[in-house]
Amino acid sequence: MNLLQTMWSISRRKSLLNCPRQYVMRYSRSQEKWKYSNNLVELSLTDLMIRSSRKLMLERLEDHKNGIEWSSRMVQLKLKLGLKVEMNLERYEQVKHKESRYLNYLISSAKNKIDSLWNTEIFKRIISSEIRQWSVMDRKKFFSDGHIDIFCSPDICYKIQNKWNLLRIDFQGERKNASSELEGMAMVNWAKRNNFLPLVTEQYIVHTLKYIGGFWIHEKYFPSEEKLQQSKQLLEKDVNAMNNLVNKMGPLMDLSQIPLSNSQSNCNKCSFKQLCPAKDGLEQSKLEQNSIEYNSVKIRFESK
Ligand code: SF4
Repeated sequence: MNLLQTMWSISRRKSLLNCPRQYVMRYSRSQEKWKYSNNLVELSLTDLMIRSSRKLMLERLEDHKNGIEWSSRMVQLKLKLGLKVEMNLERYEQVKHKESRYLNYLISSAKNKIDSLWNTEIFKRIISSEIRQWSVMDRKKFFSDGHIDIFCSPDICYKIQNKWNLLRIDFQGERKNASSELEGMAMVNWAKRNNFLPLVTEQYIVHTLKYIGGFWIHEKYFPSEEKLQQSKQLLEKDVNAMNNLVNKMGPLMDLSQIPLSNSQSNCNKCSFKQLCPAKDGLEQSKLEQNSIEYNSVKIRFESK
């Protein structure tokens, strides 16, 4: 049975927009059928490296807070170890032997990413203690708004004079779009529900650092009550679209009813590719899917 979708996060939204089929397989409650742990689906090495880089960033920041600084070699070692921890030993050994060049490439590009993150203005000000009041936040902390659990915590919260700055760091950023600002505003709605942060909207500034095309791009937004309201509406609309999508599968969880991605680049990095008709070419699979949809509509029409 397909249960109601009740969670919202930026990752879920990205997945929904980039590929509805991927969203259903990764996040819908019916995902048990396609769970990662059944060995049919494994997160790609790129996804694992992003996960490992995020953990490393938080750990390094916490160590900095405690007066411990990491050398360049330490960053590299931690990235390697982090990746190893993210996968089972058998897979790690396989990758080490069969894809060692790719593994080294991933580690070295993740290191470059971390180095350039530490060179962004915000990080330089944190590391040099120009920004003194800051803390790392827990992304697993959510707030409930009616029937939706909203996971949109910033990664770092810092205070400059009387302004609270909410920063989200996206290791796989996407270019700014019409909704970027409202997505960012969700962090303010989250912060206002946090007992340790202020209730006054104008006391916040929202920042995002997104890694796009080899650079960290900084975006900055100023909240207002109207934007916070619009952000809530955006989230409602998303969750509604998620539910419509899951319902479209019907009780048999028929994945052939779910649209595929519009872009081959999403397929290239998708963990579900081996379970998807698009593994043999996206364009051809979309034509086949259209004809399946056409036939099922036709059958329904003729049986009336
Ligand atoms: S391979 Fe492409 S179409 Fe299939 S689930 Fe992944 S992103 Fe979507």
